[in-house]
Amino acid sequence: MLHGSCLCRGIRYEINGELADALNCHCSMCRKAPGSAFAAGRGSAPPIFVC
Ligand SMILES: [Zn+2]
Repeated sequence: MLHGSCLCRGIRYEINGELADALNCHCSMCRKAPGSAFAAGRGSAPPIFVC
């Protein structure tokens, strides 16, 4: 199980199962959202958000 959170730990999540291969997307939306040349991502089963 993979655990994670935002930097202030206000939102925490858990992911069960294997992660898919990592990828960098260079489409216009993925360049605009972070303000960079690409956005990095990795597929997985839907996360479970923890209160
Ligand atoms: Zn994209």
